[in-house]
Amino acid sequence: MCGVFGIYTPAEGPDRDVARSTFFGLFALQHRGQESAGIAVSDGDRVTAMKDMGLVSQVFDEGRLSGLAGHIAIGHTRYSTTGSTVWQNAQPVVRHAGGRTIALGHNGNLTNTAELREELRGRRVSMRSTSDTEVMAALIAEHESGDLGEAVADAMGRIEGAFAAVVMTERGLAGFRDPDGIRPLVVGRLGDAWVLASESCALDLIGATLERDLEPGEMVVVDERGARFRKLGDRPGSLCVFEYIYFARPDSVMHGRGLHEVRRRMGERLADEAPVEADVVIGVPDSGTPAAVGYARRSGIPFGEGLVKNRYVGRTFIQPDQALRERGVRLKFNALRSVLEGRRVVVVDDSIVRGSTTRKLVQMLFEAGAREVHLRVSSPPIVSPCFYGIDMADQDELLAAGRTIEEVRRRLGATSLAYLSLDGLEATAGPAEGFCRACLTGEYPTEIPADMRLAKLRFEPAPVPVEIR
Ligand code: 5GP
Ligand code: MG
Repeated sequence: MCGVFGIYTPAEGPDRDVARSTFFGLFALQHRGQESAGIAVSDGDRVTAMKDMGLVSQVFDEGRLSGLAGHIAIGHTRYSTTGSTVWQNAQPVVRHAGGRTIALGHNGNLTNTAELREELRGRRVSMRSTSDTEVMAALIAEHESGDLGEAVADAMGRIEGAFAAVVMTERGLAGFRDPDGIRPLVVGRLGDAWVLASESCALDLIGATLERDLEPGEMVVVDERGARFRKLGDRPGSLCVFEYIYFARPDSVMHGRGLHEVRRRMGERLADEAPVEADVVIGVPDSGTPAAVGYARRSGIPFGEGLVKNRYVGRTFIQPDQALRERGVRLKFNALRSVLEGRRVVVVDDSIVRGSTTRKLVQMLFEAGAREVHLRVSSPPIVSPCFYGIDMADQDELLAAGRTIEEVRRRLGATSLAYLSLDGLEATAGPAEGFCRACLTGEYPTEIPADMRLAKLRFEPAPVPVEIR
């Protein structure tokens, strides 16, 4: 998980504040990562970067933005999946080689980092961080041609796994997406400027129009000669289905589909697959709301707001004390007794990962007077870890891995439990072939090296299939 953004405006045009556009682009992508934020700009001669730990609005203020003048910029918000949460691993990563500078921001997770690090070490290329992003940046920066497009194309052929990245030099901007298109990246226009972003909601905020998704295995280079697209490989594409289920914002359009609409339909389908007699349907805000609306609409059971979410919960830097921690989920949610008391409640959420939040939520609903709590999940059970950049636990931490639905229900304390089926997912999100669904099926679109599998699967040798419903 991470958000990336890039913008190129012609050097000779009116003075445009690309750092400010990037700030707002990142602000729209804040949900993709809250650990650190950074922006790099170029004025045609020099690349300047500024990055720090924290939210976009904590890292940048007017003063810092005004120090970032230029006509090319990239930005990044980070949620770590390889490498720890420290300043050295914040992005954009900046590297100097052969008399020029590159800056790079990456969303995804490489699966052959160790091998490439060894090779680069052999070539006496120095590395400062533990992140896979630095490996990517080094491959591009150290490329012998000195041509951004050539360097990116060669690097794309060497790295494996999931990646959607933006990279810039003093003179150009490039974006590229892994051959399976696991992580998203869209192309937009803002007048004569070109814009790249993880999600279309970032384009909306700055007034840019969505041109299209960059395709799986496609790259684009923008410089004074204009934009040049090039497609490497012809794999069919396996967009992360979890982007559709949970991760991307509902107001983003991905692969031509509005995600609010997709999620609402998941909820409708769930109502068909797992109906129940009840008095009210509530969603777990915000991610469960669209599916809850769909469930209510289809079932005819009235929709209600039974949970209020504190909208300032992000990454809290102050740890709650022990007494507060035990109330855990109350930092984020409070239940509305007036909606719940004496009622049979359907509660819809988009996914269950470890189950710790959900268990406390169910308990909270009962404490607020719910007579029955029917949990409905608008995605199939998550049974296998993600190696492509979604922070999904070792397999032994995944609640549904190796458990029947009834065992999961008992652990969560719900009156009943049902998940959307894989068929239901296909009917609402789109054909299975278009998606990476490894977290739901254990089938990975790329090869996962044994040592990487071992690290995440060390307690269970193979994914255990789970019966649906
Ligand atoms: P759990 O019960 O597994 O602890 O939490 C389930 C909740 O976590 C759901 O509301 C779901 O929307 C949310 N969720 C799913 N994946 C992620 C994630 O990667 N990060 C965060 N912060 N929440 C997630
Ligand atoms: Mg949620």
